[in-house]
Amino acid sequence: SSMSEAFIELRSIGKQFLGLRALDDVSLTINKGEIHCLAGENGSGKSTLIKIISGVYQPTEGEIIIEGEKVENLSPIESVNRAIQVIYQDFSLFGNLTVAENLALNTELRAKTKLVNWRRVRKLAHEALERLGVDIDLDAEVESLPTSSKQLVAIARALMSDAKLIIMDEPTTALTGKEVETLFRIVRDIQSRGIAILFVSHKMREMLDISERLTVIRNGAKVAEGPTSEFDEASVIRHMTGLDIQIE
Ligand code: ADP
Ligand code: MG
Repeated sequence: SSMSEAFIELRSIGKQFLGLRALDDVSLTINKGEIHCLAGENGSGKSTLIKIISGVYQPTEGEIIIEGEKVENLSPIESVNRAIQVIYQDFSLFGNLTVAENLALNTELRAKTKLVNWRRVRKLAHEALERLGVDIDLDAEVESLPTSSKQLVAIARALMSDAKLIIMDEPTTALTGKEVETLFRIVRDIQSRGIAILFVSHKMREMLDISERLTVIRNGAKVAEGPTSEFDEASVIRHMTGLDIQIE
């Protein structure tokens, strides 16, 4: 069914950094429109895997299949062209540009015209933020915004590029409890539009609350995967740490 159709398949991915084996034989399938959680402790290889999906790193071994097509030498541009957007922990925004300017850079670079059509960009930016249900001043310098708003600008930017997969690397690190609620509402709303989300985290409760499927990696190897309903906090901690920890 279309519900379980793969958007991207990573097959037996390995990544060697000089003397360090950061990933070993990791396979991961992200289906169209699903919220998939990638769990693992610090240093387990989560960001490395994201950088392989976004074309920043080339895997040492393995295959990448996007929408049924094997992709050789996936580059950052190719990844974006295939509708993959990553929201890194630093959001990769231009601090001394305004919200509208940041959003314009993204859409207008793709439009291949020489002049920025500000009317069009402002309209699209306004619509993107409105769809997220947030009120952010398009003329505010990004630097002046709180972290949660910067993140929303980065999400709006991803949506404006018609992403089919949005990857969020540890998106709740700098958020308050209330801001996490807002983010989760937005993540579910994004999913309802058929966009897949890879939610990368090491926080148990969050992962169990937001995702439909879960993949756990430890020391660069996949140790568990399945529907999130089959996991609980204790089992996720056990998989992440390899320790037999009991939770009351
Ligand atoms: P996580 O995101 O799960 O915290 P990372 O993917 O950032 O983990 O890191 C996995 C391992 O790979 C760590 O031991 C890290 O030090 C190492 N690593 C990550 N990037 C590089 C790199 N460019 N060169 C060498 N080692 C790296
Ligand atoms: Mg990381």
